Amino acid sequence: VPNLKIENLHVSIDDKEILKDFNLEINGGEIHAIMGPNGTGKSTLASAIMGHPKYEITSGSVTMDGEDVLEMEVDERARAGMFLAMQYPSEISGITNADFMRSAINANREEGDELSLMKFIRKMDEKMDVLDMDQSFAQRYLNEGFSGGEKKRNEILQLLMLEPRIAILDEIDSGLDIDALKVVSEGVNQMRGENFGCLIITHYQRLLDYITPDKVHVMMQGRIVKSGGAELAERLEAEGYDWIKEELGIED
Ligand code: ADP
Ligand code: MG
Ligand code: MG
Repeated sequence: VPNLKIENLHVSIDDKEILKDFNLEINGGEIHAIMGPNGTGKSTLASAIMGHPKYEITSGSVTMDGEDVLEMEVDERARAGMFLAMQYPSEISGITNADFMRSAINANREEGDELSLMKFIRKMDEKMDVLDMDQSFAQRYLNEGFSGGEKKRNEILQLLMLEPRIAILDEIDSGLDIDALKVVSEGVNQMRGENFGCLIITHYQRLLDYITPDKVHVMMQGRIVKSGGAELAERLEAEGYDWIKEELGIED
């Protein structure tokens, strides 16, 4: 069963501290949601865990199954079973979606154990069906000219193809209409199981109507300030964040 553990994490960007003593543990079988106002460091958390060079980790630790993640190269993190769906997926011209996914899958596999082209195509067809995606997406350049919603679906297609053990999904709901939201949620729900742990970062409670989280955390000013169950997300939707600020004596 996968285990991601983040302890006392401090992260800076350009010498400005963004994450301040951040703590969270995610086990296989669990779906956690982090909610919080804009600019509190949610995307910073995701990028720092996955090894984006812009984010300087000044102290603390991140482990995956007890192994030091911060010592791993970015591709080693993927091979350890970690996956990040980014808030703003990048476009890559000249590489088709199918080629990108096939090399990503095979990079995570041992030499000699690569997925055959036939098996790959069958799997990609099957997953694109789940996500109501047109087959033409396989041959289009990665994210190039994709609408916001298509990019998000494509991130979930990667999730279903790569089958990571721990996934961090950063605002996969932003810009989705209700049908796309349902499809994307169904993709995530399909991954549920004890070999899969997930961190959903979202600004809105809406996504959590379709993917029921086991735990909800509120993040403010670079750390988790409150945790609860799914009911916490509902209260945030109804009442916003002010009551938490008052409770904690936080000022803007
Ligand atoms: P959230 O995802 O919660 O909206 P972010 O992690 O994107 O918050 O941003 C947290 C803070 O870090 C903000 O003040 C933002 O301006 C700053 N920040 C994030 N990424 C960068 C970056 N690449 N360069 C400079 N500042 C950044
Ligand atoms: Mg934001
Ligand atoms: Mg963000």
